[in-house]
Amino acid sequence: MIADIQQLEKAALAELENARAEDSILAVRTKYLGRKGLLTGLLRNISQVPIDEKPLFGKRCNEVKEILETKIDEALQLQTQGEKEESLAREKIDVTLPGRGIRSGRIHPVIQIRREICDIFASFGFSVVEGPEVELDYYNFEALNIPKDHPARDMQDTFYIEDNIVLRTHTSPVQVRIMEKVKPPVRILCPGRVYRPDSDVSHTPMFHQIEGLLVDKGVSFADLKGILTAFLKKVFGDDTTLRFRPSFFPFTEPSAEVDIRCVICQGKGCRVCGQSGWLEILGSGMVDPAVFQNVGYDAEVYSGFAFGLGLERIAMLKYGITDIRLLFENDIRFLKQF
Ligand SMILES: [Zn+2]
Repeated sequence: MIADIQQLEKAALAELENARAEDSILAVRTKYLGRKGLLTGLLRNISQVPIDEKPLFGKRCNEVKEILETKIDEALQLQTQGEKEESLAREKIDVTLPGRGIRSGRIHPVIQIRREICDIFASFGFSVVEGPEVELDYYNFEALNIPKDHPARDMQDTFYIEDNIVLRTHTSPVQVRIMEKVKPPVRILCPGRVYRPDSDVSHTPMFHQIEGLLVDKGVSFADLKGILTAFLKKVFGDDTTLRFRPSFFPFTEPSAEVDIRCVICQGKGCRVCGQSGWLEILGSGMVDPAVFQNVGYDAEVYSGFAFGLGLERIAMLKYGITDIRLLFENDIRFLKQF
């Protein structure tokens, strides 16, 4: 029986020697020291040990048990230590490496232009107002002196939702909505999205407009010229040359398109200006008395001017962008240049 203990001790220590992982060490513990373990089994059989050998047998059993427990604890400790060292080595951080920069977002070029224009007109005393993008035919057309079947409707291809509901083709309906509610003087700027079924290098089905309206007693075409000249010089620079060209809009009379001397070729003629040396920037005019009548303003007492421009066009000219679609493709490589 004593020999059995000796053999068991030897076998257990050899197995422990080979156990590397935590699992196998614990398996050795269960195999020898567990409730149904081999050493426990030997001790349970002490009754079969000859009486004179019993004290020595018990003593040896306890010694072996203590030795195994100590060795197993040591093995477990070593194992944890090893794992820690391994993971430390694996996760070592090289603090001398350069940091990774945080990429910050940017304001979209169209929104930058919108903010810039709103700021300029705020300094002229205009306030910013907005209105619905899905609009009644009445506000988009009729109140602006464009009755149904009027040839002027052909100037603006339109997305119809229903017979009398459209996606607004310009931000002018906001001006009508404001004039219905507010008595003059009025100085407003209406920025927003507008929609026309058009798509090529200079048109997208959705684009952004800003329109302005000033109504008061004694407003003249000279006021229109003065404010628009000051505005365009702020956007394109003090040495910008302007020209006012007679035009037609159903809601203004007289009407004028405003051009600036081409910022690309300085007037010599290039591809962007179609060799003309001039760039169309905005449409403008004195508010037609028929529009005033629709909102209940007395055209004998009040006069005013309105103007409108496309933000994408301004952004394209200002930043030299040749294809409007680049503005809406959300390519970060393109957008981060602005
Ligand atoms: Zn040019």
